[in-house]
Amino acid sequence: MKAMVRGSNNPHVHFREGDMIEIIFPYLASHVGYVTCMGNTPELIDRPERVTKYRDDLLRLRDKYKLEHFQPVVTVMMTRDSTPKIIEDSVKAGAGAVKDIPGQTSTGSGEKGVSLFEQHKYYDCAKAAGNCGVPYLKHWELAYTIDGQEIDELDREHKAIPFVEDMIKNVPDTTIVIEHISTDRLACLVETAPSNIFGSIAIQHMVYTCHPDFKYSLPDLSYRYNWLNYCKPVLKHHDDQEKLIACTTAENNTKFFAITDAAPWYLQQKLKDHKPGIFTPNNVWIPMVWEIFWYNLIRKEWPKEIIRRYNRFMSEISAEAYNWPLNDWELTLQEDIWTVPGLKDVPVFWEGKDVNWVIQDK
Ligand SMILES: [Zn+2]
Repeated sequence: MKAMVRGSNNPHVHFREGDMIEIIFPYLASHVGYVTCMGNTPELIDRPERVTKYRDDLLRLRDKYKLEHFQPVVTVMMTRDSTPKIIEDSVKAGAGAVKDIPGQTSTGSGEKGVSLFEQHKYYDCAKAAGNCGVPYLKHWELAYTIDGQEIDELDREHKAIPFVEDMIKNVPDTTIVIEHISTDRLACLVETAPSNIFGSIAIQHMVYTCHPDFKYSLPDLSYRYNWLNYCKPVLKHHDDQEKLIACTTAENNTKFFAITDAAPWYLQQKLKDHKPGIFTPNNVWIPMVWEIFWYNLIRKEWPKEIIRRYNRFMSEISAEAYNWPLNDWELTLQEDIWTVPGLKDVPVFWEGKDVNWVIQDK
């Protein structure tokens, strides 16, 4: 069995810098068109000069590996120092989106990130993104209550929902991407939100749940992660997973698009320092999403309709959200079992497990 599909975009990747980018670049830049390259590097990409430099680095690697379809879309990070002027100048310097990771929520957001409790003070920056014609991408998790109590990781996305609603109401003219949705409730919110609101969905939340990845240590019920699958937002419950698959494979999906949120770390950083993020190569992710579509829909739909829905999720809806032209090239997927190989020092998503489809290289 074979399927010809439209070339995918991957609008959420952490390429990193230094040694790491040299190792992982070809895995994250091949087989894809537009790729949103997140700027939460150790020195944040939060101003025009950094945007230009990072984009140049990525284009240099594109030339080195001769990846003709790869189009890097660099983000400018929101910080407590951001202003509408910095956003405008960064877009002029080549930024294709603004990225907001609230303070203390994930890698690189630490002290510089804007807390959800203060986000309303920065709505002018989100409006500036809209005026410049680029989307505002946001990670929605509340890590601490207003009086500093840490919130359980499983509950953080739910606790951010009032802030999502406030921003949607107060920034009506900017395209807002609700990044890496992991819960039923946030997916429902995006489904019924105005047409400028999109949601991105990462493969790990479609294929894993928290249950095999937590070990409960009785009697205090505190949980521990399988650190290799630790990511933010953390993996959720079976109901959440079912909802995400229903949204992505729906006949009339106009809101949800696919991402990997690939975020590589060295093995020691995962096991010892418990860094959040999973490294998902495109040649693993693309056939796995196809597999989800194929096996969920094949008893009900013709292959042509499955391809149409897959193309919406993998390529077309992200192009609509970001105003990118549609990819006019195709990939051939072939039904064939293969085992995902590992990589020295960097743990790989689905490593050692089988995938039932493969990208056929020309
Ligand atoms: Zn991310």
